[in-house]
Amino acid sequence: MRLCPTCRMVVAHRTLYARTESEGRTRWLRLFWACTECRRLNHVIVPAYMLQRVPGELPTPLATAVAAALRERPLDFDELVMTLRRGCPGVRHVFNSDVGMVLEYFAGRGIVAGEMEDVTERSLAELRAKTSDSKHLGQCPAETNPGFNGKSLISVYSQRRIEATDGRPVASQQSRFTPAGVLCLRCGYHRIDPRLTARSEHQATWIQTGQP
Ligand SMILES: [Zn+2]
Ligand SMILES: [Zn+2]
Repeated sequence: MRLCPTCRMVVAHRTLYARTESEGRTRWLRLFWACTECRRLNHVIVPAYMLQRVPGELPTPLATAVAAALRERPLDFDELVMTLRRGCPGVRHVFNSDVGMVLEYFAGRGIVAGEMEDVTERSLAELRAKTSDSKHLGQCPAETNPGFNGKSLISVYSQRRIEATDGRPVASQQSRFTPAGVLCLRCGYHRIDPRLTARSEHQATWIQTGQP
């Protein structure tokens, strides 16, 4: 649930991602969060957590892993959880709530500090730097300059969460990214599947069946 600046109320949201390859590995960049009421695409602005000092002995393996991950570089919450789920010694399941508690514990002791960051701007800058990714999608339909034949359209995706039988979220690799529409990196033109941002929870069923 997020506060939509257009609706001025707390709404359900869907995060949209772009796919990018780096060093042979697929990465999913967060682009926008779509409001399920007005369908506006909003920037993802979240705190990035930075290690302020190297902590001494830590109470749990998860706390040790969080400190180690943040020692590499500042990460926002989602990035941190994703990093921990790739391998966290001594921890079987990395749950969002547990990571949140570790961050709270660290913040209270001055070990980490959070600084707001516009993830959308960072993702867009990275995507614009490698325009070759969008080759196959052709030209933006909103482009009116006939002399411009740049290929600036990219695919955007949404994540369908798969819940374990006990209702707890499962590891990120078991989530699936499904095509959700297109976005122009030049002018911001976008076409997002309206069913994706519909209020109904059942839209995921439609994506699963693989209709065009
Ligand atoms: Zn809205
Ligand atoms: Zn465009």
